[in-house]
Amino acid sequence: MLKLQLSILHKFIRSRIMKVGIIGGGAAGLCSAHHVLAMGGMTPIVWEKAAKVGGTWIYTPECGRDKYGLPIHSSMYENLRTNLPKEIMGFPDFPFPEGEASFIHHTEVCKYLESYAEHFNLYPYIQFGHHVEMVTPVLKEDGPPAWNVSVKNMATETTETTTCDALIVCNGHYSVPRYPSIKDISAYKGRKVHSHDYREPSPYKDSTVVILGAAASGLDICLELSTTAKKVFLSHNHPVNIPSEFPVNVEQVRGVVAASDNGFTLSDGTFVEADVILYCTGYEYSFPFLTEECGITVEENIVKPLYKHVIHTTYPSMAFIGIPFQICPFPLFDFQVQHFIASLIHKLKLPTCEEMVSAMEDELAQLKEAGVAPRHYHKFGRSKQLAYMKEVAGEVGCRPFQPYLAKLFIVVMIRLLLDLTRFKNYSYETDKNGCDFKEYNNGVV
Ligand code: FAD
Repeated sequence: MLKLQLSILHKFIRSRIMKVGIIGGGAAGLCSAHHVLAMGGMTPIVWEKAAKVGGTWIYTPECGRDKYGLPIHSSMYENLRTNLPKEIMGFPDFPFPEGEASFIHHTEVCKYLESYAEHFNLYPYIQFGHHVEMVTPVLKEDGPPAWNVSVKNMATETTETTTCDALIVCNGHYSVPRYPSIKDISAYKGRKVHSHDYREPSPYKDSTVVILGAAASGLDICLELSTTAKKVFLSHNHPVNIPSEFPVNVEQVRGVVAASDNGFTLSDGTFVEADVILYCTGYEYSFPFLTEECGITVEENIVKPLYKHVIHTTYPSMAFIGIPFQICPFPLFDFQVQHFIASLIHKLKLPTCEEMVSAMEDELAQLKEAGVAPRHYHKFGRSKQLAYMKEVAGEVGCRPFQPYLAKLFIVVMIRLLLDLTRFKNYSYETDKNGCDFKEYNNGVV
């Protein structure tokens, strides 16, 4: 009798525990799983197609497709060191281990994410080698929908469908290359490579390379390539040239407008001959597993309809972590996740669907008025991201991004633009109270 009562009690408790599905075991997925667990009354289930945690930080020399025929996910290159110091990069409740260097090799970030998963006991909740193939909403008369998630076990090739009360999409946004349209590009006979497939500089030895795009990857790869290439043209449409000193074989030129068999015409009419064009032109948002009924669209690089770039305005039991770019990813993920979870448990009251939609439309209209192209809607940069983190953290009462970290972020961004070849020689040390930082140049204060 007692046994029967206990089993009924267990069933009852299980039925009351909210099941939160999480797609992806990169930084965003791990952070989501951690906060779901920490909240209590909810259990995460993380599906990760790879064999380990880390997402984009798992380096592979391979390009193209993996052993299961899926596109290679990571865009990591062999020698990459972070472009943010580890003092800013870490999750607020789990700093990077101390060490002399601030700009660390990608393997250190991967190790950090593994220890995060270990520390917060996330491994029991992660299903590796599980590829999410399809998501459909299960509509309800009252309240937001549940989600049917069909997942393929890559080893057994079997597919199972799990129903979750809420779903957090953390599939990463640096995997599907974006190519700009260039007139007559098919006539170009040289090599065309996207930064997604760039691994190391030796294949470019003695070549003349046009790097298209001068954001984070374009700048970093440009420096690496300059060590082996004969000449690197860094082609971009920034209103003025980047004021930093560059290696002698690097030349900043205007954006590419047209191609011929052996080179490119630039927007100022000049022509450059090149053996290779390396597209550092960014990535597309892609959610191939979301069916049309999920109601999510991607147009002009905007994921819609999302409240505060996270919560599905029509179906607020679905969230997307890490949509904004030009940010401090891990801290921002942390605030986004806590915000969404607070809304799930009604600790945070969301505005009505109409109000959330109009908040999004107002933000877009303001950008348009300021002359910003809609494709930059999710591009935060310095001031927008600091204001956003303050707002999102503030609404759920979590400790905001510390002002000294915001200051450090600005210092690093300025150094990067003014002293690109040397900014990673600096290292930073936060003081014991976590209120300020010291800066070292090659180990000297
Ligand atoms: P990801 O790390 O991409 O993780 C997504 C996960 O989802 C992956 O593990 C993938 O396998 C899984 N997945 C995708 N689809 C499915 C599916 N259908 N089913 C199951 N699993 C799926 N950030 C910094 O803070 N500092 C830096 O210096 C820095 N440098 C960077 C350099 C490069 C080259 C790139 C590409 C990014 C860099 N970033 C940097 C940004 C980095 O992307 C973020 O820091 C962060 O790691 C992104 O985490 P994520 O979880 O959103 O995505």
